[in-house]
Amino acid sequence: MNISELKNEDEVPYTIFETPKKVWKTDEVRYATIYETPKKVWKTVAETIKLQSVNKKVKKKKLNGFVLYEGKSNLDPSQNIVAIVTSKSANPKTGNMAQLWILNKDINPMTASKEKKDNAVCGSCILRQSLGGACYVTIFQAPNKVWKTYKNGGYKPIDVPDYGNHFSGVKMRFGAYGDPAAIPTHILASLKAYVANNTSYTHQWKEDAAQGLKTLSMASVDNVGEAKQATKKGWRYFRVAKEDERLLKGEIICPNVTTGVSCIDCGLCNGAKPNDRRKSIVIPVHGARKNKF
Ligand code: SF4
Repeated sequence: MNISELKNEDEVPYTIFETPKKVWKTDEVRYATIYETPKKVWKTVAETIKLQSVNKKVKKKKLNGFVLYEGKSNLDPSQNIVAIVTSKSANPKTGNMAQLWILNKDINPMTASKEKKDNAVCGSCILRQSLGGACYVTIFQAPNKVWKTYKNGGYKPIDVPDYGNHFSGVKMRFGAYGDPAAIPTHILASLKAYVANNTSYTHQWKEDAAQGLKTLSMASVDNVGEAKQATKKGWRYFRVAKEDERLLKGEIICPNVTTGVSCIDCGLCNGAKPNDRRKSIVIPVHGARKNKF
């Protein structure tokens, strides 16, 4: 039997006709396939459907954020880090701000903390959980999820010229986990140029290399002595205090504590402007590990 003899459809097994028509590209292919290997047609259909559903999944895959930096840490150049911006937050304190995450590039943040390799992203911060400190970040939750999504290709790398397209008018928290001083300052300065406002906190404010962050970040201070020192150096600061401590001149309690306003609407923690008369911020120690403060 040859292809031309199969032109009468009555001679073709009925099941073949149930095959989706789009499988048949031309009559010639159709009859050749039926004649030669009918079973393979079904396999091909199944494969086609599977392929199409995979393609659908790929098309539906949503990019949840952007990779801004992959490279050496400013805080420990022997380690590689990654900086990622995610677009949303369910954190009631910050409100729905975009979030900048600074994470060890090749180590899960929980492992990095356990092995004390979090110095690449947190520097000398004494609140690090790896040092038994009171850091309130639940590393196994959001930082871990963001790192896993990054490893699965969920975030698109972008360069500074693309920032305007993605971040214009956005309100962003620099350092939802990790210290902004860990990444190149020009990245933060470029973000600052586009965003509507930002919040930021650095424990590296004593370091010469971090002085360029004064205009976009608060100094994170952990006691009154550091608060005075930071002021002398020209920083506005964010001081964590025990509830029985007194406010210094030039300080206010974080308005989130006193009024319930979220950071997205408050926006006070955005560094120091020239001749800035705004006050520095004090927050009572908080979080599940506050007893370690
Ligand atoms: S002072 Fe404002 S921006 Fe800073 S932590 Fe409090 S609510 Fe957020």
